[in-house]
Amino acid sequence: ARSDGLEGQVSGARVIAQALKTQDVNYMFGIVGIPVTEIALAAQEVGIRYIGMRNEQAACYAASAVGYLTGRPGVCLVVSGPGLIHGLGGMANANMNCWPLIVIGGSSERSQETMGAFQEFPQVEACRLYSKFSARPSSIEAIPSIIEKAVRSSIYGRPGACYVDIPADFVNLQVNVNSIKYVECCMPPPISMAETSAVRMAASVIRNAKQPLVIIGKGAAYARAEESIRKLVEQCKLPFLPTPMGKGVIRDNHPNCVAAARSRALQFADVIVLLGARLNWILHFGLPPRYQPDVKFIQADICAEELGNNVRPAVTLLGDINAVTKQLLEQFDKTPWQYPPESEWWKVLREKMKSNEALSKELASKKSLPMNYYTVFYHVQEQLPRDCFVVSEGANTMDIGRTVLQNYLPRHRLDAGTFGTMGVGLGFAIAAAIVAKDRNPGKRVICVEGDSAFGFSGMEVETICRYNLPIVLLVVNNNGIYQGFDTDSWKEMLKFGDATTVAPPMSLLPHSHYEHVMTAFGGKGYFVQTPEELQKSLRQSLADTTNPSLINIMIEPQATRKAQVKRCCCCC
Ligand code: ADP
Ligand code: MG
Repeated sequence: ARSDGLEGQVSGARVIAQALKTQDVNYMFGIVGIPVTEIALAAQEVGIRYIGMRNEQAACYAASAVGYLTGRPGVCLVVSGPGLIHGLGGMANANMNCWPLIVIGGSSERSQETMGAFQEFPQVEACRLYSKFSARPSSIEAIPSIIEKAVRSSIYGRPGACYVDIPADFVNLQVNVNSIKYVECCMPPPISMAETSAVRMAASVIRNAKQPLVIIGKGAAYARAEESIRKLVEQCKLPFLPTPMGKGVIRDNHPNCVAAARSRALQFADVIVLLGARLNWILHFGLPPRYQPDVKFIQADICAEELGNNVRPAVTLLGDINAVTKQLLEQFDKTPWQYPPESEWWKVLREKMKSNEALSKELASKKSLPMNYYTVFYHVQEQLPRDCFVVSEGANTMDIGRTVLQNYLPRHRLDAGTFGTMGVGLGFAIAAAIVAKDRNPGKRVICVEGDSAFGFSGMEVETICRYNLPIVLLVVNNNGIYQGFDTDSWKEMLKFGDATTVAPPMSLLPHSHYEHVMTAFGGKGYFVQTPEELQKSLRQSLADTTNPSLINIMIEPQATRKAQVKRCCCCC
């Protein structure tokens, strides 16, 4: 019997934790404070891992990455008002990426509502723009069903973010155990399939294609459709192109991958099979001049409202990518067909790939110092373990890195994504490392950051060190946003006035020793300026399976991508 007289009683915090655990939610990221600390404690008591972060935004990025990686949402726990508002960036990012996420926000006491309570804010309303579902349980008894609904909504249909608001007075309120009914774990998302006639029509359009192309998006990665998509591509001998996070659904070094001829493939394809990717800015909206005006899109997506956005598709396949791809495979099993490997289209693509690859190799082999992006990434690629997670953000760092750093496994690349969010890298890396610890111990996480991108969530290095996650952080440092200045030019410039009036807004402090951020918390730090130093420090970092490290890689401050043509965005 308990001495506190609470026999048979349960706190609101405990009900929340138990309800989450019942829904098979296993990871919670956040920052505690009034009124949510007890929720984090209760989560640990019921066996949910709690990872305390340094900024709610990064916590929210981490929780959303768990959703993408495991198919089960992670939780981001935030305090009221400013805590919740800091988390909105992460919520927006998750929702834009179509990744499941549960945000649980403490809010001010109900009895003080509208009175100017501590950190009072209309939180449920605020979250609506950033989520699929946003609600406050009407009582503690209602918590389990609201949490079940939030978890279910986050993974059913198009995945996304859901918000549950918890008034401060719920957290410590004690209620009779028997008054709480936990709702059974929601069923896995129902699998929807495309209409048979549409599948037949799609197969026929593919069979008649002269210059076909399969585009694999992160929706396909999320759907775990790798096996069936690889079968389709191999059986029909189709060229394919991954989107940034579609990388690895089929390994990048697959002979049918035409990523090195991306623009050419998009521009001249006459039939495009779009598997879990939106025709947004990343894919240039599917419109000329980047595409043929009469290109036939076969658009497969789980979200009906997505079908027909920006183009009029030749065929729409509404359903789960894995199921739909299997339906297509059935058609090609019935009447086998393959795209002729000796076609002119393959020749064009292969030639373009060869010349593009030669160009990057040439840049990579440049011996001049400071190094350029290509030199850095070629040396990194040489040493990366094949099964590692590659997390990346920054402008040139992410874009050039994407072309050189290879992915061999699905869901092993995490980057700025649909929303182009900077600051996601460390949170994503932490999530990947935590999930790897549970599921694939020994698997490494490499986080490739531009110096500007690193700054957004740099204090999460402390989180990395606190939980002893052996993440290898690479900061590709050009002293600025897009571009920067070397130390001499920076000093010279300051002779003409105060930095606030003369320094270009893109510049950051030259020669910054970001590696000290890591050594400050006990990790390993390296400052490298040459290919040899880079190779050596990376070898040491990868050999060290217990400590995190940060390699600060100085590159040419004015280095850019290979062609000096004007581009509008990172995917051009
Ligand atoms: P990318 O960034 O790779 O181009 P997007 O995020 O733009 O990809 O598109 C992903 C698409 O995948 C979204 O339209 C989403 O609705 C869809 N999607 C998510 N899960 C599934 C699934 N299981 N089956 C089919 N489509 C899915
Ligand atoms: Mg930079």
